[in-house]
Amino acid sequence: MNHILVRYHEIGLKGKNRPFFINQLISNLRAVLAHIPGTAVRRDHSQVIVDVPEDVNRGEVTSAISRVFGIAKFTLAQKISRDLPEVKEGIRSLLDVEQRVFDSFRVTASRADKRYPLTSMDLNRELGSFIHDLTGARVDLHKPDLTVYVDIQNKEAYLYLDPIAGPGGLPVGSSGHVAVLLSGGIDSPVAAHRMLQRGSTVSFIHFHSFPLVDGSSRDKAHELVQALDRYQLGSRLHLVPFADIQKQIIATVPPPYRVVAYRRFMIRVAEAIAQRDGALALVTGESVGQVASQTLENIATVDAVARMPVLRPLIGMDKVEIIDHARRIDTYSISIKPDEDCCSLFVPRHPILRATPWEAERVEEGLDIDALVRLGTDQSETIDFGEPRGVHVAPHHGRMGTDRPALAPR
Ligand code: ATP
Ligand code: MG
Repeated sequence: MNHILVRYHEIGLKGKNRPFFINQLISNLRAVLAHIPGTAVRRDHSQVIVDVPEDVNRGEVTSAISRVFGIAKFTLAQKISRDLPEVKEGIRSLLDVEQRVFDSFRVTASRADKRYPLTSMDLNRELGSFIHDLTGARVDLHKPDLTVYVDIQNKEAYLYLDPIAGPGGLPVGSSGHVAVLLSGGIDSPVAAHRMLQRGSTVSFIHFHSFPLVDGSSRDKAHELVQALDRYQLGSRLHLVPFADIQKQIIATVPPPYRVVAYRRFMIRVAEAIAQRDGALALVTGESVGQVASQTLENIATVDAVARMPVLRPLIGMDKVEIIDHARRIDTYSISIKPDEDCCSLFVPRHPILRATPWEAERVEEGLDIDALVRLGTDQSETIDFGEPRGVHVAPHHGRMGTDRPALAPR
């Protein structure tokens, strides 16, 4: 049996919530490893340990673990007896097997059991001189070629060389539920990923203009949710037809205001759907000033119709940073596939840059807002990927009932 030591982020895990976070982390690790036979996840004092049978592909295990938020670092470790002579013997055989070339090294020992007869400093010194005698390499505490880690636990010790950086963040399922407005673009999948990284569970809401355009944006939304689901393991996607709402907007709203009106309706419909999933906030992929609809004035005018908080995790990011992030999480190649997006329909060459809420209300005067929102929610279609996480109510199909108290009107 091999062992992977998993260290969680200490920050945010302090105090009474700690067991809750750790249990969530363990349950997420179990879920991500469920398809790999023989693996087991257990808590061992200050760390979480994944047992991995010898015949299991380690690459597969480490790649699965690297998608579990809340992990600071993890490493493949050898379990040995904690008696000093055996620790030394363990180091000798580890260096023998690994065949590393190094001129300098350090030992980093830690003790979960403070009753152990040697302090961490004693261990560092004792094992340091052992390795020096064994290999001739010198100790360098600041820039060593190799670091040998020794963790003394209550019954045994673990030995390892190269910790792998984990994805950080908080375990998914520990920070409430949100609904992400998912376009087929580059930004909103990154926004979703950032919320997952902060421990939220997410539902996805995609607006499409099928049959006014082809179904490509729906297919992309589907593919994007599949890619993001690797971090969540259980997702719900709502596909909302937007064509009928758009047709009415086009009939009454002057061209420069259409984009802002589209966005205000997206927020209204999304909020109704999000509320029924038990979401506490909406999330978009906007960053300030990126396009005409994302000036602060227009953002304020869009937010004026929202009663839930609208979170924008990318608000201060540059496009280059967002693209880097999208590449890292493998959504970029999906996002850049050509599609026919609903928002590119009937959009004027020069949309208004600074709409006020008052102007927006005026241009929407001829529209039956409640009826249009109902049109969107009634026609929406729900697709579940596995057992959706964080969604509090049973899936609904077709017309939605009033199963939750409505948000207070603004
Ligand atoms: P993205 O790359 O996420 O599409 P963008 O920079 O292209 O962002 P817009 O197309 O103006 O910007 O969209 C701004 C935000 O509005 C998106 O990040 C997304 O959250 C939401 N949004 C836009 N179009 C849709 C859609 N068809 N369905 C759901 N949400 C959408
Ligand atoms: Mg877009």
